[in-house]
Amino acid sequence: MIRKVKKIGDPVLRKRANKVDKITKDIHKLIDDMVETMHHHMGIGLAAPQIGISQRIAVVALEKREDVPGSGQLYTLINPEILKTSPEKSVEQEGCLSIPGWRGQVERPHKVIIKAMDRNGNRVKHEVEGWLARAMLHEIDHLEGVMYIDKLIAPDKIWPVDEPELDE
Ligand code: ZN
Repeated sequence: MIRKVKKIGDPVLRKRANKVDKITKDIHKLIDDMVETMHHHMGIGLAAPQIGISQRIAVVALEKREDVPGSGQLYTLINPEILKTSPEKSVEQEGCLSIPGWRGQVERPHKVIIKAMDRNGNRVKHEVEGWLARAMLHEIDHLEGVMYIDKLIAPDKIWPVDEPELDE
């Protein structure tokens, strides 16, 4: 089921999300809905607070591209934790389904090691870089109530883009 995406200004986006204690049928349904909602909006990631659920769950899926390691795969991150970030950083343009019509420049570590649980409750470790690292870090920020606009490299490094508003 496609869920309504919460937009900036909604207090749920600024709350620290709760840890998932147990992976239940409801959690699986929530993850399925998140994936469906992300694809519907052509997003590359979605965190549960973005659909109004304050739980530490994120999904990330980058379109398959030869030059993007780890793309073409769906990642489900439950209770994710950042274990290590590289001192090497990169600056790229980010957008967010909760801030439609805008892009901004954000600096993030180039590589990161993240541990989490997958949808079956198995412990997983992701050693990722580039766009995949960026997407995961962006989604993990949502679980802390942090949005990319908090991390712009300069206050003026944000600009409007023309993109169609999709039905919800
Ligand atoms: Zn976002």
